[in-house]
Amino acid sequence: MSQTDKSEIIKFDSLELSNPVMQAINDVGYETPSPIQSQMIPHMLAGADVIGQAQTGTGKTAAFALPILSKIDTKIKAPQVLVIAPTRELAIQVAEAFQKYARHIKGFHVLPIYGGQEYGTQLRQLKRGPQVIVGTPGRVMDHMRKRSLKLDSLTCLVLDEADEMLRMGFIDDVEWILEQTPPTRQIALFSATMPREISRIAKRYLNKPIEVSIKDKTATADTIHQRYWMVSGTHKLDALTRILEGETFEGIIIFVRTKTATTELAEKLQARGYSAAAINGDMAQSAREQTIEKLKRGRVDILIATDVAARGLDVERISHVINYDIPYDTESYIHRIGRTGRAGREGHAILFVAPRERRMFSAIERATKKKIERMELPSAQVLNDKRIDKFRQQISDVLAEDDLAMFRDILEQFQQEKNIPALEIAAALAKIAQGDNPLLVKDKPMKRAEFSEPRPSRSDRGQSSRNTRSRSPKHEKPPEEGMARFRIEVGHQHQVMPGNIVGAIANEAGLDSKHIGRINIFDDYSTVDLPDEMPKEIFQHLQKVRVSGQQIKIARLSGQEKQEKQQDRPEKRSRRPSKESVTSEDHDAPKKKKKLTSKEKKGKLKKAKKKLQTKSDD
Ligand code: AMP
Repeated sequence: MSQTDKSEIIKFDSLELSNPVMQAINDVGYETPSPIQSQMIPHMLAGADVIGQAQTGTGKTAAFALPILSKIDTKIKAPQVLVIAPTRELAIQVAEAFQKYARHIKGFHVLPIYGGQEYGTQLRQLKRGPQVIVGTPGRVMDHMRKRSLKLDSLTCLVLDEADEMLRMGFIDDVEWILEQTPPTRQIALFSATMPREISRIAKRYLNKPIEVSIKDKTATADTIHQRYWMVSGTHKLDALTRILEGETFEGIIIFVRTKTATTELAEKLQARGYSAAAINGDMAQSAREQTIEKLKRGRVDILIATDVAARGLDVERISHVINYDIPYDTESYIHRIGRTGRAGREGHAILFVAPRERRMFSAIERATKKKIERMELPSAQVLNDKRIDKFRQQISDVLAEDDLAMFRDILEQFQQEKNIPALEIAAALAKIAQGDNPLLVKDKPMKRAEFSEPRPSRSDRGQSSRNTRSRSPKHEKPPEEGMARFRIEVGHQHQVMPGNIVGAIANEAGLDSKHIGRINIFDDYSTVDLPDEMPKEIFQHLQKVRVSGQQIKIARLSGQEKQEKQQDRPEKRSRRPSKESVTSEDHDAPKKKKKLTSKEKKGKLKKAKKKLQTKSDD
């Protein structure tokens, strides 16, 4: 039986999750467990060590969070569960997921702890006795060393995205943490891939682990033209309505993940004039059948469905399948798009992909063995041409079919009395008919989503940097537009790997790792490309960050004028730390400005991080 087949027969009710957790699942509207959930949850509940080979988007967070929450003891005000995640973004996301699934558990607290956040706040929050801690490796280690995080009551340790931690150079930290935990704790290890180092850790620390692997299944969908739109800049709903307007379609199925989303989206589309209906597992069979019948007869054109509700649906007039929410396994994708292109007809599949779903997207491409074409949202020009065609068609239809004698008489009289050309009158009437909605859309350029085209993976970056070992930085490619090159005082002689640099900067600068560009490692220093508009506060904060035991003392190698402006220095510096054209951060220079209190500094740093994140997301 395939993975998805298993999930077809398993329901959440049969998984023996606690009542408050079941209530939360109902609230969020999950209909059935995803394959990783149905296969993992029973073992997690039984206390076994588990290895889940699955990527983001498979529902892996709930696969560990739901059983963990079902077993949590809220009377104990000490960490019972520790989740280690590679990045602050993932740590926050996982903590939010715990919060969401624990909404009916009284006295439950989860705390994310990550680099770049002030210690003071974290210390205060740790003292409140959260039962679940979700943290990045470095910061967790720091707190363990400081004894502000004690793991004596720990019953479960989760390693999330273990391969990512390996790539980011955190694996030694993870191993150190593992060694400090009580030997009786349960371990759940999740990883999209299983590099040797991760298998070694699994063998060494996990006790007879149960392995669950959500594999890609191969399939082809020949008559279906597949495209994807990268979610960014434009709201998903706005993008959807643009696509609906730009495409020529008969019937459409839009897939979403939750029951609630089916009704919400149906209502929103109805409000925008589409004949849309929801279909989900909460509806009685007869109501579902009626809705499908309406779709068949063309009384409804758009069906918004969950996977379960649309299973086996066979309606010839479905010309498009839109994956508004990406499915959580490749098999679901294949099932979904199979609803179009029936009976040898041509079909269209459109997939919305958020940046964090890139891995699932690649898995889907691999599974369908087809390149999914990137699509842009239809331009104002395309939409306007369509609108004008439609408008002209309406005029032709009315001229052909309706009896216009009465209107013709009135207008003839009006024209003679006022002496206005017929065309002018027709234009005024068209305006009246159009009402408040403008006929044409304004040519406001829609933001082009920057699909992080599979950039070289961090390990590839490592490779390229090692190749450049002997070259001088002057011979390196210049940074991409919007980026600047920085020098950091850690190099091969400190055994640094690119992953260590990415990890430290991503976490400490609050920067998504995808905004960290090329890294070149030299003998005693390295260069790294970062967004050009680096706020002063982040820059100063990065000065103190340590990588491979070295303070990185970051200094800008390009864009010196800007740097000097940022640094607000009254005079040009004469001292440079190296022979290259380094714009140094002069640590020893006397501070002429008024000293800020630590609270003021923290506030400024927080603001700067936010600013940098927004800038790099633009
Ligand atoms: P993850 O793989 O943990 O990042 O989860 C991906 C997304 O799937 C999240 O937005 C979850 O809210 C959603 N999700 C998780 N489990 C289910 C489920 N059983 N049904 C529908 N959506 C789910």
